[in-house]
Amino acid sequence: MTDANRTTDIAVIGAGIIGVSCALAMARQGLRVAVLDRQPPGMGASYGNAGHLATEQVFPIADLSILKRLPAMLMDPMGPLRLDWKYLPQALPWFTRLLLNLRTAPFQRTVAGIRALNENSLGAWQRLLQSIERPHLLKHDGSLLVFERAESRQAIDALQTRLRQQQVPVDVWQADAIRQAAPQLSEHLQGGLFFPATGHFIDPYRVVNELVAAAKACGVEFHQQAVTDGQVNSAGVTLSSDQGTFQARQVLIACGAHSAHLTARLTGKRVPLDTERGYHLMLPREQQRLPFAVTSLERKFIMTPMQDGLRLAGTVEFAGLHAPPSMGRARQLQRLSRGLFTRELDAEGATEWMGFRPSLPDSLPVIDKVCDGKVLLAFGHQHLGLTQAAITAQMVAQLVQPGSLQGLPAVTPYRLGRF
Ligand SMILES: Cc1cc2nc3c(=O)[nH]c(=O)nc-3n(C[C@H](O)[C@H](O)[C@H](O)COP(=O)(O)OP(=O)(O)OC[C@H]3O[C@@H](n4cnc5c(N)ncnc54)[C@H](O)[C@@H]3O)c2cc1C
Repeated sequence: MTDANRTTDIAVIGAGIIGVSCALAMARQGLRVAVLDRQPPGMGASYGNAGHLATEQVFPIADLSILKRLPAMLMDPMGPLRLDWKYLPQALPWFTRLLLNLRTAPFQRTVAGIRALNENSLGAWQRLLQSIERPHLLKHDGSLLVFERAESRQAIDALQTRLRQQQVPVDVWQADAIRQAAPQLSEHLQGGLFFPATGHFIDPYRVVNELVAAAKACGVEFHQQAVTDGQVNSAGVTLSSDQGTFQARQVLIACGAHSAHLTARLTGKRVPLDTERGYHLMLPREQQRLPFAVTSLERKFIMTPMQDGLRLAGTVEFAGLHAPPSMGRARQLQRLSRGLFTRELDAEGATEWMGFRPSLPDSLPVIDKVCDGKVLLAFGHQHLGLTQAAITAQMVAQLVQPGSLQGLPAVTPYRLGRF
């Protein structure tokens, strides 16, 4: 153990978008912060997500309508949802909890919990990026959900009504509005919903690394080590890693989909955290196709214009943390795009990627402080970790130094004790 380690106030485990945003926020409070990650920063789910500031997504990861479509979806190996049947026994308790959370009261609690974060997300991100002088990393240009089949109009109308009930800003676009704003999209698109209070990041990996640079400038140390265990003691927390031990007064667990083990070791609490694996296909030759992120209602994937090309992303796969990726699902995204544009996408030089969304069965993250304040938790942001990172960081900073920030969402819905 070095002298520097001995005086660390907070050890953050996990250098994804959540851990890095929190580290910067806490360093700005004057705390001595060290970040430990087994990989270089930003190489987890935060590397390859769709970059969508998805403030419009206020509903849980599943709803009752999915149940009806589930058997057909699961039978299609290249469909938007895949279950590795070998993984079913392990996933069953999680699915059971997911189903129980579809009942009216928990469903409404989830929507309120997601809304409280999402409604504060755009402002939190704008302030954060402004503070590191990188506002251009986020394009606040809205995003569009399109539909192709006439029979989908009913579903779009119903969704629009439900979103308005939740105060989500939404405009209805007819086909001609789409053609005007995004002329490269196919003429057969029937219409869609435009979400003005959303946007996209031009490169999510770069966002992490710009925050890392800002954090380093505030004195945050980054150490590449895999934390294997931890213990709360009178001096704070002792962590064991592949590099030895690490002592800090407090620890923040921000390991994304990998957070359950250390949470159990440090708090004694088992969280029902699982992963919804997702894929992307990056098309470097497609720089100028879209002005904003576009999602297809029927094909269930998103296309986001980024600095280095067009990113096609989506699909949910339940296969746990250890099964190898099925990259055919990433390539499938290009096939899914066929017919959505006036001219087909150019896939030359395309790269594939798989990442682990950290998902809890009530679709809410854990943001909390436990063990007499020695253990902080920020994980489980499912499909919305990028969206909610900046506001999560403010909430964690507030937990560390109560009263330091005003007007934040209350942490009650996100407490560990709900499990
Ligand atoms: C295909 C796909 C598309 C997505 N699109 C969007 C989107 O458009 N908008 C949005 O808001 N969200 C999106 N998400 C979700 C978002 O990417 C995640 O919610 C978010 O990245 C989670 O961030 P994190 O920091 O919690 O986890 P991660 O980025 O996974 O970081 C966790 C870190 O912890 C480290 N770690 C784990 N265990 C240990 C250990 N024992 N010791 C040391 N280090 C450890 C890992 O190496 C990793 O770097 C998408 C996800 C996927 C997969």
